[in-house]
Amino acid sequence: MYNNKSMVATEFIDDEEIKNTLKYAKENANNIELIDAILDKAKEANGLTYKEAAILLESDLEYIKERVFSLAETLKKRFYGNRIVMFAPLYLSNYCVNGCVYCPYHHKNKRIARKKLTQEEIKLEVMALQDMGHKRLALETGEDPENCPIEYVLESIKTIYSIKHKNGDIRRVNVNIAATTVENYRKLKEAGIGTYILFQETYHKETYEQLHPTGPKHNYAYHTEAMDRAMAGGIDDVGLGVLFGLNLYKYDFVGLLMHAEHLEAANGVGPHTLSVPRICDADDINANEYSNAISDELFQKIVAILRIAVPYTGIIVSTRESEKTREKVIKYGVSQVSGGSRTTVGGYAEEEKIDENSAQFEVSDHRTLDEVVNWLLKLGYIPSFCTACYSEGRTGDRFMRLVKSGQIANVCQANSIMTLKEYSEDYASEDTAILANDKIKSEIELIPNIKVKEIVIENLHSLDEGKRNFRF
Ligand code: SF4
Ligand code: SF4
Repeated sequence: MYNNKSMVATEFIDDEEIKNTLKYAKENANNIELIDAILDKAKEANGLTYKEAAILLESDLEYIKERVFSLAETLKKRFYGNRIVMFAPLYLSNYCVNGCVYCPYHHKNKRIARKKLTQEEIKLEVMALQDMGHKRLALETGEDPENCPIEYVLESIKTIYSIKHKNGDIRRVNVNIAATTVENYRKLKEAGIGTYILFQETYHKETYEQLHPTGPKHNYAYHTEAMDRAMAGGIDDVGLGVLFGLNLYKYDFVGLLMHAEHLEAANGVGPHTLSVPRICDADDINANEYSNAISDELFQKIVAILRIAVPYTGIIVSTRESEKTREKVIKYGVSQVSGGSRTTVGGYAEEEKIDENSAQFEVSDHRTLDEVVNWLLKLGYIPSFCTACYSEGRTGDRFMRLVKSGQIANVCQANSIMTLKEYSEDYASEDTAILANDKIKSEIELIPNIKVKEIVIENLHSLDEGKRNFRF
């Protein structure tokens, strides 16, 4: 029986409720009056229910698609302006005891080299990332209590935050590790993590169990209830995601929004971010074998509807996607992108020595961070290296209140200008620095608050003089 406040996975992600929702969406896919009312509601930027969003997804009417894309673009601009937050993944270990059939790190794959970084190697990776200009990382590990225990992850986080190489420092470490206990989440919180990210992969229980035949991840309830344990452990920024293509996308789309509604209903705060990876090729994995794979056009539609369904939640897209696709989804909703990513363990410092087969997935966007920054600037965006909310304690419901009131946009804008200046001074190529400085000049003029504008200008001078890490 569906109950969004329940802490039982099969009650807050209720199979029957999802199936009924999909049926209802099909029945109303051409109900113009209802769809217009949904879109009018969406315009108010208070979000949509999973039921309303499901109807938009189901509808193939050209006029509806156009309205969805146009509204997504408008809301994106309203809440995120032209800012795109930059990050990079950092793979610490690819040891894994699970049997996920879509991931090359599954324990039966004997063809990939297994590797876990030592603290010394982490330092080298972090220095390489700092030399690119990154400030925000997403830690990735396989699940292996012996080779990669929580103590190792905690020690690694400490190491990462401790490295100050030239002008570089990592200011926010998000963590994507396997579902764990409340006690371990508490330790992660104490270690100063930003967002805890865990992808559900698919919300369809039966399919989930087939795709995860062995290992602790096989336990659907333990995995699905992980975010509630994370929040019980004090982590108030959590990131959800599904791997589109593993199951029927409509089912997972509804499941994802249902999960978001559950977090808000049961814990008082919805997800901080949503990730929208699509299944792709890797060693041992052929994406074409997945008959549920979704097209580029559909992918854009999913992102656009998510944008209007959860306007306050960041949407992340990785380098799994090509430059072309990334350009389209950024326009309709994505607010965070990775750049210069390596999906191998040790891939930043020792790229050439690493066996390419050990990548978790094939990267489609192979550009360097500088090339991605340059590209974003040419498209009119302002790449942001901001991590201020984490440093200022703006997390969880405090963060959400600021976002919903629209106040956050003022600080995001100022911080994006100052962090881009920092990037431009320390890491940008000549061409990128010219573009960045032009953008900074034009953006300053758009700061509405005179006092904030004055402080930004003053800080830009200080950045010229070599001072770093200014933020609101
Ligand atoms: Fe291990 Fe994660 Fe890959 Fe599954 S998806 S095999 S848990 S690394
Ligand atoms: Fe993100 Fe906060 Fe920085 Fe805005 S101010 S870009 S919300 S970290």
